Amino acid sequence: MKVWIDAGHGGSASGAVNGSRMEKNDTLRLAKLVQAAFERCGVQTVMTRTSDVYLSLADRTNLENRSGCDLAVSLHRNSASADACGVEIWLHHAAPEAYVQWAQLVLKELQAVGISKNRGVKKGYIGDANADYAVNRDTKAPSMMIELGFISNAGDNRDYDAKLTQYAEAIVKGCCSWKGVAYQAPNGETPQGKTLYRVQVGAFQNRENAQRMQQQLQEKGYPAFITQS
Ligand SMILES: [Zn+2]
Repeated sequence: MKVWIDAGHGGSASGAVNGSRMEKNDTLRLAKLVQAAFERCGVQTVMTRTSDVYLSLADRTNLENRSGCDLAVSLHRNSASADACGVEIWLHHAAPEAYVQWAQLVLKELQAVGISKNRGVKKGYIGDANADYAVNRDTKAPSMMIELGFISNAGDNRDYDAKLTQYAEAIVKGCCSWKGVAYQAPNGETPQGKTLYRVQVGAFQNRENAQRMQQQLQEKGYPAFITQS
């Protein structure tokens, strides 16, 4: 299986902004973790970007069209008034029922990690049920655009920072489950009779310091997670 992963916006296109926080950076952090998780499961990935660069929507979908991917996943964050919160997934306006099931699987996995609200599966373009987002309209593979929480909501941002690795795993789990590909957990069981070497980069008494280290690692593309002992 091969998956197209699109980190929304980039470069001069910041996407939604909340203070110094920009959607383009949030989507890139998530995209790298999603890529790492897919590859761990033996799934090939095609990334529209792996750094802070601008690409037009056509650049992105042209890459998808050439890549022969089996799934197309575009990652975004929502923005509205400060009290709006939660996660929603957009599909093509004419997406078949099977694609709705795919989106529901991903939402179910995200909900298991913990999101402020499941806003459900939506079709078309906001305010126009017969129009589509380019990432759904101009891609060849079954596609979805995930709006992973509101950048305008403090609680969603806290969740995003604390649970980003788990969100990435949830997206990959949902996709693997829909395609019948075996999902491999990052810290899965030690294969019988085998030694497992873990890499630790810090130990902190203050959780915020641990989260800061986790975020730095995630920004570099490492699927870092926090354990407590
Ligand atoms: Zn966006």
